[in-house]
Amino acid sequence: MNIHEYQGKEILKSNGVGIQEGIVAHSPEEAVEAAKELNRQTGTTWWVVKAQIHAGGRGKGGGVKLAKNLDEVKELASKIIGMQLVTHQTGPEGKKVNKVLIAQDVYYPGESQTQEYYMSVLLNRQTGRNIIMYSPEGGMDIETVAEKSPEKIFTEEIDPKVGLQGFQARKIAFNLGLSGKAFKEMVNFIISLYKAYEKTDASMFEINPVLKTSDDKVIAVDAKVNLDDNAMYRHPNYADLRDLSEENPHEIEAGKYNLNFIKLDGDVGCMVNGAGLAMATMDIIKLSGGEPANFLDVGGTANAQTVEAGFRIILKDPNVRAILINIFGGIVRCDRVAAGVVEAYKAIGDIKIPVIVRLQGTNAEEGKELIDLSGLKVISAITLQEAANAVKSVMI
Ligand code: GDP
Ligand code: MN
Repeated sequence: MNIHEYQGKEILKSNGVGIQEGIVAHSPEEAVEAAKELNRQTGTTWWVVKAQIHAGGRGKGGGVKLAKNLDEVKELASKIIGMQLVTHQTGPEGKKVNKVLIAQDVYYPGESQTQEYYMSVLLNRQTGRNIIMYSPEGGMDIETVAEKSPEKIFTEEIDPKVGLQGFQARKIAFNLGLSGKAFKEMVNFIISLYKAYEKTDASMFEINPVLKTSDDKVIAVDAKVNLDDNAMYRHPNYADLRDLSEENPHEIEAGKYNLNFIKLDGDVGCMVNGAGLAMATMDIIKLSGGEPANFLDVGGTANAQTVEAGFRIILKDPNVRAILINIFGGIVRCDRVAAGVVEAYKAIGDIKIPVIVRLQGTNAEEGKELIDLSGLKVISAITLQEAANAVKSVMI
């Protein structure tokens, strides 16, 4: 689950990580109030207005602007709230901005006295260990740094038996070229950041930039946080952090039925049991010249309810011109799945596009017979190649 910058910063702050202070606002009026409150709290007289969307690259896209008085705060907030913000991470259609973070300006009095770094904590899936990735080249995309000067990206791996060690934090601060007060600040920053990452069961914390201010404080100016969905049961309060307006509505709907659904751009809808088989099905669709419209894994229990929910979600996509159902009957019997398909098909009623059902495994023949005798416009198949050919023939 992704969360917003302002929520990520709240988590950081509550774990003792220094942050650029800010207050979230949903309207230009709230933005002005937030700016006044920040002035009371921090004394700042310049503010940054930052679009809150689940995507990076907001600065370049025009979603992060400096305001030098309250009128500018109001003007910038009214421009940014409601805008369709396009960044390299949103896709060409962009994302609608519903709120802004009004933050204190931390680059004062000038950029020459400040220094930006990159730091992230994430899991190295090869070693199964957390790593801290960092670079003195902060502020810009880490992908660009990786391409142009990979030698400027460092990693520090954490042994889970002992956790992050003090010497590792000091090594990082040293490699970033810090000394004196800033060195100590950075060490504390790293230790608190890692603590926050572990405590929240996060899968990523990316702070870009980490800023050394003109008075040698080290703070998080940005926060990109991903919380591990599989650990959600340990943090019931995280449900409040979820912003459904940032997620695909069909994926939200699918989640209610425990279906793993991911929307794609093609025209062949597919419904499969098992993630591996779903990927193989997408491959065969592509090999037959089609493009999958989605990934949909209905899981182990493909009954009439889940099949119907899957059907309904796929049919909401206007690009879909055919649906391929590919079920392997291992634990679940094919004739039961077939009955489910027929039931769901009848319940929905008006399906105008061809549906191809491929059942393989326990009672596959009985399942095929059930479909063939149902009188519905459903094409049945036993082998995957037959199914792919059927898809091809209906798509011409
Ligand atoms: P991103 O573009 O989505 O990664 O958003 P960031 O939060 O990283 O902000 C983008 C850029 O805005 C940063 O790299 C900074 O250069 C700039 N920025 C952020 N906060 C301030 C600030 O307080 N003052 C000034 N002058 N610039 C800021
Ligand atoms: Mn950033």
